[in-house]
Amino acid sequence: MADGAYDVDLFVIGGGSGGVRAARIAAGHGAKVMLAEEFRMGGTCVIRGCVPKKLYVMASRFAKDFEESRGFGWQVGSREFEWSRLVGAKEAEITRLEGLYAKGQEGAGVTVVKSRAVIEGPGLVRLVVDGRLIRAKNILIATGGRPNLDPEVPGIEHVVTSNEVFDLKTFPKRIVVAGGGYIALEFAGIFRLLGAEVTVIYRGTQVLRGFDQDLRDGLTAAYERLGVRFIYNDVFARIEKHADGLRGFLTDGTAIEADQILFAIGRAPNVEGLGLEKAGVKTGRDGAIMVDAGSATNVPGIYAVGDVTNRVNLTPVAIREGHALADTLFGGAKGIAPWQVNYDFIPTAVFTTPEMGTVGLTEEDARAKFAVVDIYKTSFRAMKATLSGAEDRVMMKLVVDGETDRVLGVHILGEGAGEMIQLLGIPLKMGATKADFDATMAVHPTAAEELVTMRTRSARYLRN
Ligand code: FAD
Ligand code: NDP
Repeated sequence: MADGAYDVDLFVIGGGSGGVRAARIAAGHGAKVMLAEEFRMGGTCVIRGCVPKKLYVMASRFAKDFEESRGFGWQVGSREFEWSRLVGAKEAEITRLEGLYAKGQEGAGVTVVKSRAVIEGPGLVRLVVDGRLIRAKNILIATGGRPNLDPEVPGIEHVVTSNEVFDLKTFPKRIVVAGGGYIALEFAGIFRLLGAEVTVIYRGTQVLRGFDQDLRDGLTAAYERLGVRFIYNDVFARIEKHADGLRGFLTDGTAIEADQILFAIGRAPNVEGLGLEKAGVKTGRDGAIMVDAGSATNVPGIYAVGDVTNRVNLTPVAIREGHALADTLFGGAKGIAPWQVNYDFIPTAVFTTPEMGTVGLTEEDARAKFAVVDIYKTSFRAMKATLSGAEDRVMMKLVVDGETDRVLGVHILGEGAGEMIQLLGIPLKMGATKADFDATMAVHPTAAEELVTMRTRSARYLRN
């Protein structure tokens, strides 16, 4: 399809969630597509993000299940966890997925090149592996993000990030996690349940800023019960390596010994050395590529999707952005109208144990935006805990517009929260009211039935 002036209709830089989807859909529409990936096909999510993370979360939860099964009559024998076997099994699975991703691209007609690619100017990309220059009618930047480190901290070279933590040579018996977001809390849970001593160092007063306050309280309490130690209002000042491990010093002078220190203090768009300045592509906060609602940059013919644009840094969002762009650029011949991603009501889960699921507005946000906000909430002992003796509680909260009865947000803490919140994304997106929830028959006995049986309002807030 590419006309004589160009080698390809679309050059995709990055074989992660957004890039792979855009390339496959574009090729399916008949475009001539080339995709360059410098590391491993599948990108962050498949290789060192969502997928291996969820496998490790699953591995960690067996510890709890073994313990709790006693209450149900089981006699559990001696248990031993072998880190290297988990790492090996994970590696085999992501290698399989990596192969599937490459095959999927080739099957769709995409030319995949194992190389770093850099932009040399509008419509011009260079493959670093062999120096080839590719003339591209459209360029899609889908280079994702990379973990932040604090370069001001002496000894920072001794820490690991989420890039390395999956493949540690030995299991860290003592691990300190810096940060209080998704990644920090997920790994704190994984390592604690696998048997490590875990300390979380957070610069603020409470982790998971931006999530619903009740869930934050519930999760912190659950982690404290698990034995995770929190240190607040502090950060690392320096880190030393000794024969017996690492010694970190916080700004207040506290010294902490650890086998590993995991930095999970956020991620930055992957734009270094990409040649953006040569093409005149504008970047904003933290180097994020600035795009419009259709993922177009300020330079005609250059687009960006996914984490590199720092909009909503989640895999399904990157995938949808890539899909919308490919349909918009190349779907016309098949009668597909241009479309844009809608960012309302994105459900998300934090794979802590207990899990968090959330969609829509938090109570705090709703109270700032709406004149009347009704809250329905419940907290109860999980059914499994009645026999296991565990202290696990499930929390659920509905945030409702008191004037229209529309459900604005749902927040869940407890087993299966991720699965529940995926399904709740549908009615919330459709504009369901509290009356619709009430009219829905319960499934008994489940935890989720509480979502449709909360009759009594817990609170009503009027905006001043
Ligand atoms: P990426 O998937 O990061 O892909 C970018 C690709 O571009 C990479 O493969 C990179 O090697 C390549 N690349 C970069 N520069 C170049 C270049 N110049 N030339 C060639 N190739 C290049 N999201 C969820 O929705 N659920 C989760 O449970 C979840 N868990 C996560 C856990 C962790 C530990 C991390 C780090 C992230 C997690 N995320 C999760 C976020 C999710 O991984 C990202 O939002 C998603 O991968 C973004 O997709 P992307 O296409 O923008 O970039
Ligand atoms: P987050 O933005 O979630 O959290 C970063 C944390 O680091 C915050 O607690 C922040 O504190 C703290 N922080 C930031 N800068 C510093 C600093 N200089 N010193 C000390 N602490 C600092 O980032 P993550 O790295 O955890 O994850 C990146 C993104 O990846 C997530 O936002 C999410 O979009 C995605 N992701 C999604 C997952 C999922 O869907 N389950 C799982 C993992 C990642 P403060 O709150 O004070 O700003």
